[in-house]
Amino acid sequence: MNPLLNIQRVHSAYIFTGTDSLSLKEEALLFAKKLNCLSSLGLTEGSMCTCLSCKKIDRLVHPDVKWIESNDETIKIDTLRELQRELHLRPYEGKWKVAIINGAHHLNPASSNSLLKILEEPPKHSVFILLTPYIENLLPTIISRCHIIRLTCASQITFPPIEFLNDLLSLPQNAEGRFELAKKISKDEATLKNCLEVFLTWYHDLLCFKQGLTPISSPLKEKETLAKNMCHQLTSQAIYDKLHIILEAKKNLSFQVNRELLSETLLLRLSQLTGPNE
Ligand SMILES: [Zn+2]
Repeated sequence: MNPLLNIQRVHSAYIFTGTDSLSLKEEALLFAKKLNCLSSLGLTEGSMCTCLSCKKIDRLVHPDVKWIESNDETIKIDTLRELQRELHLRPYEGKWKVAIINGAHHLNPASSNSLLKILEEPPKHSVFILLTPYIENLLPTIISRCHIIRLTCASQITFPPIEFLNDLLSLPQNAEGRFELAKKISKDEATLKNCLEVFLTWYHDLLCFKQGLTPISSPLKEKETLAKNMCHQLTSQAIYDKLHIILEAKKNLSFQVNRELLSETLLLRLSQLTGPNE
């Protein structure tokens, strides 16, 4: 269930993140339709609305829904400037101007800063939706201004049973426990890779909870209580930092490093950054 369909308050910026780029696009269009739907019944999950607005959004011809496609290339500052000009105009026919940036991790430093400026003083009646599987590549200052919606189908990520999943998620606080866990997760490359994916999913989930949202179809759903407890102990910044640490470990793993050492360092760094309460 997409929590956005029941959302009471519309925020000025969202990040939709997940591994399936198609579902990111679909959910973004669904949200844009929800915001501008002309039907008195309103758009509900799975419903196909045939109002003029929904039809135009589906065909990407709605004048108030601007779609920016990175096509795996850098998104230039001129694109952002043009967008800013457009967003300051009143919606032509809808209730909201919606800007969808697909591949938001392709914003270069200049265009990221330009986007940040827009987000700092978002034009009235405008909603930004940034789509990216790599949320960690966005500026933390951008992320902190957005509501994060993580879209993952449980069927897309299936973790093989990890007998030490609880230890992995709650992280041992003493050195002995960490060394022991590091041995377990580094026993072979597949296990380690899998554990890194579990960590990424876990901290994405924590980011969601931190914002008062529930991650959609998370493969770690059964650990929801633990996640909610943990996210109270961490600042958003601490969670981003952890995501960076995991991605760095993922990168290092491809360089044939010593797995056990990599795991020890990873666990140590993850358990250190606990940050003060927000
Ligand atoms: Zn409609």
